[in-house]
Parts: sequence; structure tokens; C-alpha cells
Amino acid sequence: MNKIPLVNLGAQYKSICSEVQMAIQRVLDNGSFIQGPEVKAFEESFGELIGTNALGVASGTAALFLGLKAIGVGPGDEVITTGHTFIATVEAIEQCGAIPILVDIDPKTYNINADLIETAISPKTKAVIAVHLYGLPANLFQIKEICDRHKIHLIEDAAQAHLAKIEKKYVGSIGDVGCFSFYPGKNLGAYGDAGAVTSSEPKIFEMIRMLRDHGRTTKYEHQYWGFGERLDGIQAAILGVKIKHLKSWTQKRQEHASNYTKMLKNVDVITPFVPGGFEHVYHLYVIRTKKRDLLLSKLKSQEIEAGIHYPIPIHMQPCYINSKFPKISLPETEKAAKEILSIPIYPELTLEEQTRIVNIIKETV
Ligand SMILES: *Cc1c(COP(=O)(O)O)cnc(C)c1O
Repeated sequence: MNKIPLVNLGAQYKSICSEVQMAIQRVLDNGSFIQGPEVKAFEESFGELIGTNALGVASGTAALFLGLKAIGVGPGDEVITTGHTFIATVEAIEQCGAIPILVDIDPKTYNINADLIETAISPKTKAVIAVHLYGLPANLFQIKEICDRHKIHLIEDAAQAHLAKIEKKYVGSIGDVGCFSFYPGKNLGAYGDAGAVTSSEPKIFEMIRMLRDHGRTTKYEHQYWGFGERLDGIQAAILGVKIKHLKSWTQKRQEHASNYTKMLKNVDVITPFVPGGFEHVYHLYVIRTKKRDLLLSKLKSQEIEAGIHYPIPIHMQPCYINSKFPKISLPETEKAAKEILSIPIYPELTLEEQTRIVNIIKETV
């Protein structure tokens, strides 16, 4: 029986390999390895797609870090975010010398519970990072209203949510700063590390442009103490090829998700919940069951790769548990971590593969 991977980058590469090879060759020929015309062209098309302005950076982590720096987050400041995310969200806060304040999730969406944000705000709060986890937008309308009322910044961690929408607006175009990752397995993935920052605020945008490139204003003049977090030409050229397919790949993910949800309708697992007016892009298709560990091992024994995003909440990670968050408890986050399971989803997934996966789920739960 064929193995079904969690993500299938090989299948995607096969469908675009000649375009990708030509794009890489172009960079090798013109020698623009750092920034240069390919980066500029990709920034323009990504910004246009999202409906704002975009800057290429070295990774999603760099995007978060530079976004926080550009709005002035520094030592002693507090930044509110969720305890149920990839650790990079929280690392970026720490890299600024600021203090992460973790709040619990809404167990229906797995995103930050907007009702809990207000009580976490203190005079030191500088920003909220809303993570659009799994490809489902966080409740930005409520979060934005809270941020505006308290005059704090809203940063979107859209690393998993390219082309996800709230009321027809793409995520990354709603907060002060949007942060995207093009890690290879993301919905839009490079063939190495890459990321982008989006912002409609000219001041923030120009600051990030300088900070990513050693605080430069001109070749030899450094206005700020900056960083080396630029996007390289080869990755930008590859992304320039892939961005043309992103809408159709996203649609495929959504079709597969809708198939899963239909097939699992009368099965004792919780399927993803999408609030009205929100559009999910299914970076991950996450189900929930008390029999998670059993199901995971059954799938594995049938050569089906599944994953847990994430099994250890941030505040319980070894690097934190004894220091930063010794006392906090996030009950919904902790409960979800024991019951969630990401099953394979990628544009090239077939109905046959989905049926095989669903059958194992049915037999197990
Ligand atoms: C992938 C990811 C990041 C980090 O992106 P990198 O490109 O790997 O640095 C940040 N936040 C979330 C939610 C992610 O999924």
C-alpha cells in the first residue's frame, strides 16, 4: 500500500519543475542573489495579491521579529499572544527583549480567545499578535476593536494562512503588520527559508525595509542598528512561479477539506469549525478525538502520516516551564493538545487517499 504523507512537496514540484528550473537559471544568469529584481517582482505580486504592500524577508520568524521591532517593541514591553502556536510567534517577542503574555484559546477555533485579551492588557502592553492557526483567521474584528480602543498595535501571524479571508479581506491586510512564512511546507512555500512582511502603514513599512538590511538608507549609510534578514533572489524567483498557482492550490485544499468534513459527518470526531464570514485555507486539517493517540498509531501502521500541531503548549515547553511561565495554566490549550490530530492535506491529495484515511478513522473511533 502506498504511503500517504502529511504534506507532499514532491507531487507539487513535478507539476511546476520546468518553470522553477527556468526561474532559478534566470537568477544564476543575472547574478542578483540577494534582493534584486526577482525579489522586487515577487514583493509587488504578493502585495497586490494580499491587497497591501509587501517586503520579502529571510523567514516567517524574521517577519515577526522585524514587525515587532518596527512598531517599537523593546525591553520591558508586553506582547499578548496565544499559547497554542508554533514557538516562533513567542520567540520573536523574546528576541525583542519583551515579555510574552499568553492567553488561552477558543476551543472551537483553536485561535486566541478574544474575550480573554482585555484582561491581559496592562500599561506595558505594546501589541497583540493574532495567529491565524491552521489557516483559519483569528477573530480579527473583535481583536482589532480591542487594540484600537487601547491604542496598541495588532500584528497578524499569517504564517499558516496565505489567502485566508475575513469578510472578503485577506489576512495580512487588516492589522498594522502581517507576517508570512514561505517555509517549504507552508501553503506558499519556497525551497528554503523565506518570508514576507505586509503593512499599509508607510512608516512601519519603511522601517522594516531598513531594518531587514542593516538599517541602511543608502549603500554605506546606516540610519538604524539593523539586521541581516533579507530574502534571496533564488527563493524569490521560485516564489514568483508558485504564487501564480496559489489560488488554485488553495481551492484544492478547500475542496479536500469539504470532502473530509462530509465523509466524517456521522463519525465521532470533531471536524474544523469555520465561523460565518471567515474563509479557512486549510494549511492543516485538524480533527479532535479523545482517542487521538490510538488513531495516530493506527494511521501510522497503515503508512499514513499524521501530525500534532502542537503536542506541547508554549508555556509547557522545556525552555519555558521552569522560568517564564511557571504558574500560568491555559486549560483549553492543554486539553486540545491531547486531542488534536492533523491528517494529510495538500492540493494533490486524491479522493481515494481521503477515503482510505477516513475508513481508518471510522474503524478506530
Ligand atoms: C511556520 C510558522 C512560523 C515561522 O516561520 P518560519 O518561516 O519557519 O520562520 C511562525 N508562526 C507560525 C504560526 C508558523 O506556522
